[in-house]
This record gives sequence, C-alpha cells and structure tokens, in this order.
Amino acid sequence: MTDITADRQTSRRNPAAPGAARTVASAVPAALVARLAKGVTATGEPDWVHTTAPLTGDPLARLPRSTPADVELAYELARRAQQTWAALPVGRRAAVLLRFHDLLLARRDEALDLVQAETGKSRLHAFEEVLAAALAARHYGRKASSYLRDRRRSGALPVLTHTVESRRPKGVIGQISPWNYPLELSVSDALPAFVAGNAVVTKPDTQTALTALWARELLVEAGLPADLWQLVIGDGPVIGPAVVDRADYVSFTGSTRTGREVAQKAAARLVGASLELGGKNPMLVLADADLDKAAEGAVRACFSSAGQLCISIERLYVHRSVADDFLARFAARTSAMRLGGGLAYGADMGSLVSVQQLETVTRHVEEAVKAGATVLAGGQARPELGPLFFEPTILDGVTPEMEICAQETFGPVVSVYRFDTEDEAVAAANSTAYGLNSSVWTTDHRRGRAVAARLRTGTVNINEAYAAAYGSIASPMGGMGDSGLGRRHGGEGILRFTEAQTVSTQRLLPIGPSFGMDDEKFAALFTTGLKAMKALRFK
Ligand code: NAD
Repeated sequence: MTDITADRQTSRRNPAAPGAARTVASAVPAALVARLAKGVTATGEPDWVHTTAPLTGDPLARLPRSTPADVELAYELARRAQQTWAALPVGRRAAVLLRFHDLLLARRDEALDLVQAETGKSRLHAFEEVLAAALAARHYGRKASSYLRDRRRSGALPVLTHTVESRRPKGVIGQISPWNYPLELSVSDALPAFVAGNAVVTKPDTQTALTALWARELLVEAGLPADLWQLVIGDGPVIGPAVVDRADYVSFTGSTRTGREVAQKAAARLVGASLELGGKNPMLVLADADLDKAAEGAVRACFSSAGQLCISIERLYVHRSVADDFLARFAARTSAMRLGGGLAYGADMGSLVSVQQLETVTRHVEEAVKAGATVLAGGQARPELGPLFFEPTILDGVTPEMEICAQETFGPVVSVYRFDTEDEAVAAANSTAYGLNSSVWTTDHRRGRAVAARLRTGTVNINEAYAAAYGSIASPMGGMGDSGLGRRHGGEGILRFTEAQTVSTQRLLPIGPSFGMDDEKFAALFTTGLKAMKALRFK
C-alpha cells in the first residue's frame, strides 16, 4: 500500500495554492443560497430539503421541495413560454447561447465554487464542467441554424412534387440529471433543446441543485425568458416520474437501473427518450504504447472527479510484455497524487460526494482484497482529510466472481489485467453489458483505429482518456448496450429535441389517374416512369 500525499504539502506540478483557505461557508454564503432557492418551482408553505458539503460534512443549503402539483405548474408555465420562444428566429435563440458562453467564462469562479461545494471534486475537475458547458454553448450557438434549417428533398414526382423537410420543436423537454457533473449535465442537454425552440423542466439531483439553479440564473441573464426553464426539486422516485409523465420528450442521465424505469414510463406514453447511463469502461495499453504518456493518461482516465465520471476507466488491460513497466509508472504517479479539499486549484483529486458512494467504493475494494486481489496503490479511506475522501486505488488480480469485476464502482478504483493478443484484449474489453467509453494507447494510430472499430462503446479515445471524444462536441456521444439510448452532442444531440415534418406541394398533375385516364393506363404509365427514374439514377 502507498502513502497518498495530502494537500498540506505541495507537488511539482501544483505549487502552494493561494486561496486554499477559503471555506465552503464563505464561498457559498446563506444569502446566495436563499437567492438561488427562489428559482425552484415550489409553491405553498415550503417543505425544506437540506444538503451538506461533501468536503467537510457541514450544512450547505436549504431548498424548497417541489410537489407533483408544482411539477404540473412548471409544465404549464413552460408550455406557455415555449409558444412565444418557438416563434423567434433561430438566430435570436442562438444569440442567447453565445451570450451565456461569455458570461460563463467571465463568472467561472462562481461556478467552480458551487460545483466544488456541492460535489467535493477538485477545482481542476470542476473546471472540466465549465469547459464542456462552454463548448456546448458555442457549438449549438454557432451551428443551430444549420442543424435546424429546412431541407429540400426529392419529391414523389420530379419537378411536379416540391418537398421540404422541416424541424419542429418537441415542446417541453423533461430533463433528469445526476449529481456528478452538475453544471455540465444541467446545461449541455438543455442548450440544444432551447435553441431548437423547446422549453425545459429539469429535475436535478437535490445534492447539486444549487449549481443547476445558478446556471439557470445565468442563462436568464443571457436573455432566456425566465419561465422557459423550470427547475423542480425532490426525491427521485416521487418527482422523477411526475417529470416523465408530462414531458414531450425525456432527456435522462443517471444509472442504468433508473434509466430502464424512465424508458418504460416514456414508452407507455409513446414519447421519446434519450438515456445516458452507466459504464464499466476499459482502457487498452498495447505493446507499442508510449508508457509514460499512457501512465499519465491512466491517472486522468481513472481518477478525474474521483472516478465519479460515467466515462471514467475502471478496467485496465495491459499487454503482458509491458505490464510490469507500465504498472510501476502508473502506481508511482497514482501514489504521488495530492488529495485535497481547498476551494482553489492545486489538488489532484478531491472527495467523494456522499456516504453512499464511500460505502460502495469501500465495499468493492474490501471484498476484492478479501477474495485475493492485491492493492498496487491506495486502497484506503482518508477521514483525516474529510469525511468522504478515498485514495485513488489500483487493484491487481481481480477475478470474475468479484463484484468489482463487471459492476460499475463509480469511484477512484481501477482493476488491471494482462493480455497476450489483441483479440483477447478486445474480447475482454467487450465482455460487460455496458458500452459507454473506451481508451486505446498505441504509437500506431492506424492500429488504434482498427482496434477502435472492434470495440462496442459509443466513444473510443486513442491516446487520451475520455476528453478527446467528449470534447469533440460536433460528434455524437453516448452509450451502446446497457450504457444508454440515443446520443448527446453533434447533430443527433439537437435533432432529438425536434420532430421532423415533411411538407410536400403537388403541382400541375395529381398522383393518381387524371384527365379521364383509366386505372390500368395510369399503372402502366407509372411503371414506365419508375423504370425511367431508376435508369436516370434518381435517388
Ligand atoms: P440515479 O439513477 O440514482 O439518479 C439520477 C437521477 O434520477 C437523479 O436526479 C435522481 O433523483 C433521479 N431518479 C431517481 N429515481 C428516479 C425514478 N424512479 N424516476 C425518475 N427519476 C429518478 O443515478 P446517480 O447514482 O445519481 O448517478 C450516477 C449514475 O449516473 C452512474 O451510473 C453514472 O454512470 C451515470 N451517469 C451517466 C452519464 C452519461 O452521460 N452516460 C453521465 C453521468 C452519470
């Protein structure tokens, strides 16, 4: 086992962090919480919910709980606002996203404080959320007009049929999001929904609702009509179904178990849903990989946001010929990571978010070790740093009967395995029911892409952990198998919030017998016409 450095010390990469002494209470004062709480759609005498700061265990926020009747009100208000919003030209709607982009970057420290206070992650990991949200705002702000524009399509009869495919907003989107990326996951699905002409009713996880409320406030400042984005708060099994029951489309991010329930409810109402779910993501280190880069990449891959990242790596497959060398480098880097809870840059990893998360991580590690796995780095909780800290942990010798082998841990723990052939590595990588993200390390890019084509995951990162594909915002992102349905980002990420409508105008001649032509003559004429269209290579 190793001694993971605490934040009292400094590291080579992160010298002493100024401002590390700021407390959660001073960064998120009661007045800010009270102001943000006004953004919750909750009427009547408030029934308060309370959250605590993971870094310290101290009380953080008191927020009014919404009732199912409040969810109904939220939809009513959103529906009314959506009519006016949808009538605006796309360019006017897109301008709001671009203004939001600038405001977000200018006020990023406010966002970082809130994300750190609510999740316990390090500031650098919180910054990834700002980055991802800004990318989504810029991309959809600039590209929405092109994604949404009317498109001429070939008609039933050349020249005589004029056909246009248009995109209409779905109406009101029901959005349900988890606690792990509260800024990114409340904004980057909502932005394409808004620019496509929709309203949104969001149920964030209560633990991270302040960040979502802050993002809403900022978007309103950027010009979004206030009623267009409603936020409701409450227990998932109570308020979640109320959100799904009224939505014209559901955008869900969370666990596979809840995702199945949401999908069934949406299916019963015949409304669509996109589901961004869990993963047990593999990383492959091929024999020709640059081992220093791969070891550095593995640290990012496994321990960003303390592994509470859906696209985080939890299974690491290394070619036997380089395994010892690679593992020595990876374990050394992992053991040198600085854990810390300050509201400033400097720590390499922060805390877990909740007691439940700490229990799952501890159980997975303890069970595996008891059954024979070896700890190459980490392996322990670190209560002296804060109530929910757990060391970044590498396990060797994990076997299929251990829970950690194929179940998502959603924490800073990775299991390592050795392989002899590429076929073996690909088969092992594809061996779980999940299919979200994977990472391949090789100096031969062509070989990397060939391996990628055989991996059953929605994203594959070659020589990067997850950020290359996730940050490629023009390209779709999502899961295969139990990791989800549908995609965010790119064209699919916005068109899912629209209905396609085909409008065809028939000119001069109808598509049926006319001018006294009998049925048989019409059929013969059309048969000749079809043959001619094929011969002329009509599509
Ligand atoms: P979760 O499914 O428990 O909760 C997610 C959201 O659903 C929360 O807001 C919760 O209150 C709500 N909810 C709970 N029960 C509900 C119900 N019956 N009906 C409707 N909504 C309900 O997930 P979690 O533990 O909060 O989040 C972690 C999971 O999310 C992990 O599995 C992780 O991999 C996944 N995740 C996936 C992505 C992705 O993009 N694929 C991103 C982040 C997290």
